[in-house]
Amino acid sequence: MTQEQKETVKDMWQVKGLSLKQIGELFGKSRSAIAGIVSRNGWQKRAPEGFQHQRPKRNARRTVRPTKQSAVQATGAPVPPSPVAPLHLKLEETRAGRCMYPYHGEQYTFCGHKTIDGSSYCEHHHKVCYIAGSRRAF
Ligand SMILES: [Zn+2]
Repeated sequence: MTQEQKETVKDMWQVKGLSLKQIGELFGKSRSAIAGIVSRNGWQKRAPEGFQHQRPKRNARRTVRPTKQSAVQATGAPVPPSPVAPLHLKLEETRAGRCMYPYHGEQYTFCGHKTIDGSSYCEHHHKVCYIAGSRRAF
């Protein structure tokens, strides 16, 4: 597993809160293989509670100034729609500098757009993952 892939595992584990099994499926590895990587690196899973209280604030803001966020809330989609269509790269097609944001489908695919500096994601998905340090349901 490359360093970049490990960073992605860390991100999915800590930021997105995916389970070891889900991450394993994503990388074609067993749950225990991912558990080994996580424990060897000492990555603690962040508590899922404590971030939910940010949602009401967002709703309050929405009434004043409707944004793309409102459409998301209305449809119940977990993340805002990407302003750019994902390239749906397969894992083996991803490479450095390409957004590793995963999409669920028949099989996992990745966004694939150019990443911004210091992130495994494109500008849009970086915002999705790191808005005010909040943790979003994946
Ligand atoms: Zn992306």
